[in-house]
Amino acid sequence: MGAWCDGGEGGILWGMEQKRVYHLRRMDRDMADRGEQLAVIRGQKIVNVAMCRGNQPYLVTLDYAFCEGENCFYVHCAREGKKLDFLRENPRVWGQVMEDGGYVVGKCSHAYRSVAFEGRAEFVDDMEQRRTALGMMVEQMEPDPEPLKRRLLEQATVENVVVLRLRVESMTGKKSRGSSVWQ
Ligand SMILES: Cc1cc2nc3c(=O)[nH]c(=O)nc-3n(C[C@H](O)[C@H](O)[C@H](O)COP(=O)(O)OP(=O)(O)OC[C@H]3O[C@@H](n4cnc5c(N)ncnc54)[C@H](O)[C@@H]3O)c2cc1C
Repeated sequence: MGAWCDGGEGGILWGMEQKRVYHLRRMDRDMADRGEQLAVIRGQKIVNVAMCRGNQPYLVTLDYAFCEGENCFYVHCAREGKKLDFLRENPRVWGQVMEDGGYVVGKCSHAYRSVAFEGRAEFVDDMEQRRTALGMMVEQMEPDPEPLKRRLLEQATVENVVVLRLRVESMTGKKSRGSSVWQ
């Protein structure tokens, strides 16, 4: 079970209930430094995004671009499907980006740095904002982004995808001490 504070002045009111504010049980693995969290995000290409509709959970893996200025992830997808149905009903998301340092042989341990966040999904309707977000995604993914950007950012393509902004509301970082790289 995770560690949590029972509120007091730090507690958050959530409807009529008090929301428990958790912190890492293993504080020796805390990666609170924003710069290090951003380094993990900049270095990866996929984010796992969990959502919930009623009592039904769902999780998808998505390519992303992260916008530091807006503190949000941009993702894209087809215009229909299960995740969009979920997000239209409940835009709240939980996400995780993970840098896998591999299994540490002989230690029954894994080396990693990861970032977890809570946020809210918004549909990006404005064509120019969509184009910018898709351009950022191509830059995050492609070693040579310009040719693909020219092709992908045509009007027809931009109109035919859904772009979501996952606005980050809180973020935590954690790293294992399994690797000498991340001591
Ligand atoms: C490395 C990686 C990168 C990806 N990048 C993107 C991206 O940028 N954008 C994007 O939209 N998708 C991406 N995907 C696919 C994504 O993880 C989901 O499969 C997809 O978004 C599901 O869309 P949907 O909810 O509309 O599913 P639907 O097509 O509506 O299908 C829903 C049903 O299909 C099943 N299903 C859905 N996805 C999977 C799956 N991955 N494996 C097994 N069963 C599944 C579920 O049981 C679910 O009930 C990526 C996947 C991987 C592994």
